[in-house]
Amino acid sequence: MPIHEKSLIRSEDLITHEELVLDGVDVSGHWSTFIENRAVTDYNEAMEDEISALPGGEFIHRCWQCGSCTNACTVNAINPDFNPRFWIYLIRTGMEEELLRDKDIIWQCVSCNKCTYACPRDVNPEGVMKATAHWLELKGHTEKKPSMIFDEEFTEQIVTTGKIEDGRVLRRFFAKTGQPLFQEWLVALVRSLVFRLPIGLLTKMGLATLFHPRTRGWSRSRAAMEEYIAERETENRKALGLESKS
Ligand code: SF4
Ligand code: SF4
Repeated sequence: MPIHEKSLIRSEDLITHEELVLDGVDVSGHWSTFIENRAVTDYNEAMEDEISALPGGEFIHRCWQCGSCTNACTVNAINPDFNPRFWIYLIRTGMEEELLRDKDIIWQCVSCNKCTYACPRDVNPEGVMKATAHWLELKGHTEKKPSMIFDEEFTEQIVTTGKIEDGRVLRRFFAKTGQPLFQEWLVALVRSLVFRLPIGLLTKMGLATLFHPRTRGWSRSRAAMEEYIAERETENRKALGLESKS
């Protein structure tokens, strides 16, 4: 039997009668609060298989609903609606419509992996959150979220050059997400670094911004990575029935 915290009951599902007398007892107001009955008929029986076929979702079947992941979760501490245990329950029972009600917060996972360390069943809840966000996007339920855009930018730079140049990743991420380059926190960070880092390192970082250095002999690694990524993307789409299986 799954755990259902009180916070999971949506206010629109609660019914309260302003005036109600039952067997001569006045139960008006909050005394007559009921949860509305509902019948779920549109199960997506393929949902668990689809999400477990995506990277990170492989071990979702191991979950026994203990709630340790949600208890440990960094984002849940700030927003109780962010509930990995509950979403895993919905995925495993095929309740797609219910899951879609939270589609705009699932991507907010910050990949801290506290849930991963707390999980007694090695489910890798952090991976499940990533796989679920990816599934939502592939299925067209959500547009590409900022965390996904950041991941893509980061990966693209590694694949192309074999190096990471933080300033360039940030610049391109801000441009793609319509954010200004000069943000208060970033200006403060740069100011504090300028006075702490050795001048030689700062010069190297500045030159890297201009010339985008590459790792020597990187072309074969790049080709192998591109081939692998293309294979995985095709596999992911096939697992979701988005391309005919060959
Ligand atoms: S990795 Fe994501 S789901 Fe797990 S504890 Fe951190 S924020 Fe929560
Ligand atoms: S901690 Fe692991 S087993 Fe427990 S509810 Fe979360 S994912 Fe499931």
